[in-house]
Amino acid sequence: MPDWSERYEAIIGLEVHAELKTESKAFCGCSTAFGAEPNTHVCPVCLGLPGVLPVLNRKVIEYTMKAALALNCEIASFSKFDRKNYYYPDLPKNYQISQYDLPLASHGYLTIQVDGQPRRIGIRRVHMEEDAGKLVHVTGPDGREYSLVDYNRTGVPLMEIVSESDIRTPEEARAYLEKLKAILEYTEVSDCKMEEGSLRCDVNVSVRRRGQKEFGTKTELKNMNSFRAVQRALQYEIQRQIEVLEEGGEIVQETRMWDEAKGVTASMRGKEEAQDYRYFPEPDLVPLVIDREWVESVRRELPELPDARRERLIKEYGLPPYDAGVITSSKALAEFFDATVALYPNPKVVSNWIMGEFLRLLNAHGLEVRQAQVTPQGLAELLRLQDQGTISGKIAKAVFEEMFTTGKAPGQIVKEKGLVQISDPQVIEGIVKEVVANNPAVVEDYLSGKEKALAFLVGQVMKQTKGKANPGLVNQILRETLARSK
Ligand SMILES: [Zn+2]
Repeated sequence: MPDWSERYEAIIGLEVHAELKTESKAFCGCSTAFGAEPNTHVCPVCLGLPGVLPVLNRKVIEYTMKAALALNCEIASFSKFDRKNYYYPDLPKNYQISQYDLPLASHGYLTIQVDGQPRRIGIRRVHMEEDAGKLVHVTGPDGREYSLVDYNRTGVPLMEIVSESDIRTPEEARAYLEKLKAILEYTEVSDCKMEEGSLRCDVNVSVRRRGQKEFGTKTELKNMNSFRAVQRALQYEIQRQIEVLEEGGEIVQETRMWDEAKGVTASMRGKEEAQDYRYFPEPDLVPLVIDREWVESVRRELPELPDARRERLIKEYGLPPYDAGVITSSKALAEFFDATVALYPNPKVVSNWIMGEFLRLLNAHGLEVRQAQVTPQGLAELLRLQDQGTISGKIAKAVFEEMFTTGKAPGQIVKEKGLVQISDPQVIEGIVKEVVANNPAVVEDYLSGKEKALAFLVGQVMKQTKGKANPGLVNQILRETLARSK
């Protein structure tokens, strides 16, 4: 693939939809709980039956305001709701209550780290709307395909966060999404579960020659179910657009789908089919007048946010900025770190384990922190077992993996599997003598000055003890034994 970055740059904007973690829906009292039997959390209001009136849930404004303030936005003192009209089977009213020209919040930003440098990405607007239902496509016993519709999600409050077109690379897009997710988690306004659809993302992307002022024609990418997919889709789409331009072609404004399996984007619908939503003010809801006192009381409730927490870890624990950034990238990870350090007060050792083994296993299993079975108590106990010499560093990693998948306590795993480190000099000396006797050529090499030969002999002792021998002791006894045999 040719590298076009010298001659072209990409202009990327992101629209993120986050379901708010309220207990009831935006305009009725129905439950928002995920995973219920289809069409059990519905009522005449969210089904849009004739003659019903929506009533705004106050928590929806509070949560949106909280997130917007955490994103450094200005909160409008006057805002209103609009009807966005379109027909779709999962939208029983044929319109969605949303906000059009007067969103609740605007002019914010968040900061991402690019090559260790902070970079500010603008937030154009944050507004409220309601979610649509869900279509489930199935194949019947007769082989025919049909669709089922579940209205449980209809009317669940959504917050839409629209970035400025400040993002330039797929990596920045991913960093932006990760930071945004962290902020929403820290403020506890959304549970951000992408696998349950409570966090969704659409991307706008165009390319232009470097030095050119105007933006190129953009395409919109949909259907991405992870931040990694967003990054990959952008890499593909930017390359595709540049190749079209290089061949003298033109970019068509259209919506494209990301095909995760094939790793390509494909046209979904063109601009000529684009919807005219015929927005008009929602007549059943009064405009929102937000007084400053309310805004300030929500501002006072804001928790410590990722950037502040990162600074605190650097100051309080002396963690390197890189470590602090990784640890605070998710609230759950930061809490895991704090809880472990409270039990085992060696922050750098804890951070190494979290950034190393813990994140490696989470990635390998495709899990989030909250889904892992290992606890801060477990990690602290493991580190103490290692300090006491009960287990070696190598065994500790194996035990941690077992803790991660089974949730068992490290002491129990060590006991059950007989992993206690061998620290008895007599036992080790016996094995060392055997290894030395069985490898005369290697011993000869060592005695003639080849220091490397020692590592082989250490390896043999470790092999015989299944990695359980205390490595320091093995080294020491081996050197002494060899010195005597000179
Ligand atoms: Zn309802």
